[in-house]
Amino acid sequence: MTRDSGLGTRDSFPRAARRFEAVGFSEIVKVRNRVLKLLAEGHRVWRFEGGEPYMPTPQPIKEAMAAALARNETRYAPSSGVPELRQAILEKVRAKNGIPADDDSPIVVNGGMHGLFSAFATLLDRGDEVLMFSPYWTPIMDVVTYHGASAALVATARARREGLTAALAAATTPRTKLLYWNSPVNPTGDVFSRPEVEEVCAFVRENGLAMISDEAYEDLIYEGEGHVSPASFPGMFERTISVFTLSKTYSMTGWRAGYVLVPKRWRVPMKTIVLYSINGVSTPTQWAALEALRLPDTFLTEAKEGYRRRRDALVAGLRASGFEIDTPPAALYLFPKVPDSLGSDSRSAARILLDSARVATVPGLVFGPEGEGHLRFSFSVAEDTIAGGAGALRNFAAAPARS
Ligand code: PLP
Repeated sequence: MTRDSGLGTRDSFPRAARRFEAVGFSEIVKVRNRVLKLLAEGHRVWRFEGGEPYMPTPQPIKEAMAAALARNETRYAPSSGVPELRQAILEKVRAKNGIPADDDSPIVVNGGMHGLFSAFATLLDRGDEVLMFSPYWTPIMDVVTYHGASAALVATARARREGLTAALAAATTPRTKLLYWNSPVNPTGDVFSRPEVEEVCAFVRENGLAMISDEAYEDLIYEGEGHVSPASFPGMFERTISVFTLSKTYSMTGWRAGYVLVPKRWRVPMKTIVLYSINGVSTPTQWAALEALRLPDTFLTEAKEGYRRRRDALVAGLRASGFEIDTPPAALYLFPKVPDSLGSDSRSAARILLDSARVATVPGLVFGPEGEGHLRFSFSVAEDTIAGGAGALRNFAAAPARS
């Protein structure tokens, strides 16, 4: 019997779905695997390739999970979330983000990645185009491709020089469906200003587009004006899926908790995807998430002090080794230019630093063509790692020229 009969044989196997053919698998994971191999071989590696908060999850959040378990909060919750948590989310987004969210708009999701995946699944058809500023957070490209859509990249630096509206207009076609927005930005640590957000929102509105707004780093802004949510502008809540996560703000990367705000017109598909992908976030995790949202502001003030100190120490360490870098106002990352001595190919530079200085970074190219010539360092690491890594880079820079 041949495959053509449609019945297959004992020795033939169906292939994976074709939609995966063009989808990559995170290069950051590949860097991590190389680092793990070096560690297993007994090497000391200064690790800057990650993207996790430096401190453990706050104790009251852990205790809330324990209390939920003791109360036997262990059964299915409503698939869009525990009512108490959805209510706390509503109060937070209305008061802090200024978003005119209606009562049924929050849906609890399994972290930011799940919220983003579900949002793209809700909106994209094959052949659609997605506007994205570049550099961008790398998984988004794969999620867009997975849905049979394509990304139209808008180089951020150039758009800022020449005008955001003109740059977006030049990348827009009749197939453009939505704009993916991320501020504060991973990988650059940049923040778009309020007038910039306003200009982009006006473009989205005037062109009848949707927006997926990724606000993973809303709370990790160290200087300048605070976070601005696109859905807070007039007419934007109705055309925006806003995606939030507890991962970064509350050091909860492993808990997998986040939430999205979805306007009424897209709510049924979004709830359907959440139902059929996870059937709701783990119930005890949701009670812990509720406690996180109730933490006093002092928690964040202290956490941010630690981030700022680490950021400044790593900026100084990199500058001392010949890296060109402006101090970014937000997020967890530095995105310096690769020094001339390492060439302009970011993959090769990252490889050399890992092999020769045992310093692990992510090549900038992973974040789009506009990231080439840069490396991403996370400053959200132990202060010892910053001191040790900076020392390794200084020694490397001072060593005789490599052939
Ligand atoms: N969005 C951005 C820009 C991120 O950097 C991340 C995580 O690194 C996420 C979303 C998703 O975070 P999580 O899935 O851990 O909630």
